[in-house]
Amino acid sequence: MFAIETENLTKTYGSLTAVDHISFAVQEGEVFAFLGPNGAGKTTTIRLLTGLSRPTAGKARVLGLDLHRELPRIKKQVGVVPERSNLYDELSARDNLIFTGQLYGVPRAERAQRANELLHRFRLEDKRDVPFAHLSRGMKRALTIAAALIHRPRLLFLDEPTVGLDVVSARGLRALIERLRQEGVTIFLTTHYLEEAERLADRVALIVRGRIVALDTVEGLKSRVSGGATVEVRLAGPSGEERLRFRGEDVESAVRVTLDHAAAESKRVMAVNTIQPTLEEAFIELTGLSVEVMLAEKGNR
Ligand code: ATP
Repeated sequence: MFAIETENLTKTYGSLTAVDHISFAVQEGEVFAFLGPNGAGKTTTIRLLTGLSRPTAGKARVLGLDLHRELPRIKKQVGVVPERSNLYDELSARDNLIFTGQLYGVPRAERAQRANELLHRFRLEDKRDVPFAHLSRGMKRALTIAAALIHRPRLLFLDEPTVGLDVVSARGLRALIERLRQEGVTIFLTTHYLEEAERLADRVALIVRGRIVALDTVEGLKSRVSGGATVEVRLAGPSGEERLRFRGEDVESAVRVTLDHAAAESKRVMAVNTIQPTLEEAFIELTGLSVEVMLAEKGNR
């Protein structure tokens, strides 16, 4: 069974097609990333898959259940972390967790215990009585994720999890995602950070203007970069050592070019390394976009 399966899922707003006939499947237990620039349709896809918005066309199954007909059953097993927190400013950290538990139908006794466990796990125990509004940005994000886990979902949606976080909080969050994955939770995340997709995701869908332009493992995406192989070499000659890069159709021809060059210049080859294309190069080639479009941060929303 797939955790998520979509077929031509589409959402239009007037003349704008925000999500344009996307078909993909997420395996159970994997971390799957939607990587794309602002406005690509990432949030809309999450809203569709969590029942917050109705598709204009197409179908989806979530945890083996029909999105349209079995939404209440899906909601019980799915956690959602929106980009902007859905928690209550005036409620304390603990009360927010308990209240969310109530919404998800977690039994009363279990609710309190689960809230305490999550406060511990997210290192928010000393903030348990602090109103949400008074927490730091990183703590707010952590608590929002904790709340999404109160009912032990099998599938977690994370919309741009590290946007606006400082480096330390972002690192902590990535470690958390890794741990959840080890516990068998399927994770669907959206990001416009290439590095984040590369570090976390088992598979990545590149999404541009509502369409999936490529879907593969990070390695698979990189291997689609055309233009052959690059080797980085260290050469030694009478005037000292130098580092150079040579390109060829494949590794063998890049090495041959290196050897020819070394022979012609009477230099010795001291070391050869093959250089892998970066995800950035793959992104540029597969989307036709510049990486700068991904760097444009959002305004405060
Ligand atoms: P971001 O990360 O900036 O949120 P995104 O990839 O998540 O980008 P979406 O929020 O899904 O993109 O938006 C996709 C497109 O749909 C955008 O052009 C957006 O303006 C439009 N859109 C989203 N929600 C609505 C809405 N409720 N009404 C009209 N247009 C909308």
